[in-house]
Amino acid sequence: MLRIVRECSIKQPAFILLNMIELTDLTKRYNGVPAVDNLSLTVREGEIVGLLGPNGAGKSTTILMTTGLIEPDGGVITIDGHIMQKNPLLAKAKIGYMPEDVGFYPGLNAAENLDYFGRLYGMETERRKRRIDELLVTVGLDGVLTLVGGYSKGMRQRLGLAKALLNEPPVIILDEPTANLDPVGVSDYRRIVREAAADGAALLVSSHILSEMSVICTRIALLSRGKLVADGTWQEISDHGSDLIVRVEGRIPLPEFSLDGIGSVSYTPDRKGAVIVTSRDIRCEIADLLASEGIPLQNLQIDAGSAEEALLQRFRKEAEA
Ligand code: ADP
Repeated sequence: MLRIVRECSIKQPAFILLNMIELTDLTKRYNGVPAVDNLSLTVREGEIVGLLGPNGAGKSTTILMTTGLIEPDGGVITIDGHIMQKNPLLAKAKIGYMPEDVGFYPGLNAAENLDYFGRLYGMETERRKRRIDELLVTVGLDGVLTLVGGYSKGMRQRLGLAKALLNEPPVIILDEPTANLDPVGVSDYRRIVREAAADGAALLVSSHILSEMSVICTRIALLSRGKLVADGTWQEISDHGSDLIVRVEGRIPLPEFSLDGIGSVSYTPDRKGAVIVTSRDIRCEIADLLASEGIPLQNLQIDAGSAEEALLQRFRKEAEA
């Protein structure tokens, strides 16, 4: 397994980022077959860690154990210093959780649903009302009086995000948060998640949508058949030695690209577009290069298909090793 990020397992002075989620040797078996197998993972303050893997890799099982909804067969879950198995109430109080399908009261509107949960969390009236008003604006549901029973899946997901953030939890866990969102919803979601991390929250996000994870996550934990097979930044884990395709479009002609990992570059006739074959994700470096040369960027994307395939190959190889 590739282990890139150094861990800090004990509480340190304030300038060192604290481990908010610590999973140690976590194991869960169904009918004797491991769904999660000796998984150790840490999420620190300000991090957005993406739990990524193909269907059946063990993402949901990991999330359910981390939120205290199912018991592990082995290992320890520590949330902001509280061991879930010993102090479940203290540990759970630190977590804002958005499951894939959040349960709301269909006969209440968004504010009334959030008010119900706010009371359940013991939030005092003034803070509860202020927070609900704030969050409805944040997730784009302010002024929507429709009862939740009439919501689209995307609206439910927006409200689910508001619920997860309601009592300003230091640990936020989101299961497939963008599955039902339209492009505006996805863009709002990214802003909200980044703001929460900038405010110091630790986020664990599960998804099988690789392109989404590469944009939003500060670190990615790859799961394959219940095992953690890699843990690092998107750039680190995508530096896998096989080919990725990066497409660049500028508003004016592009410069020569001579970055590490580039195999070949082909330009469009007007030189405003380029297709780059590379062994690693070089999008940040390209954006920096164009910015430094004053070239306005029109589009910069990685061919998610090739990245996904490369990572899946790696899942398989590492799982078989
Ligand atoms: P993912 O979320 O990555 O798709 P899951 O955590 O749902 O993966 O599942 C991991 C493995 O555990 C799969 O093989 C799945 O079939 C199995 N599994 C998950 N939940 C149960 C369950 N309640 N009973 C039996 N097997 C389960």
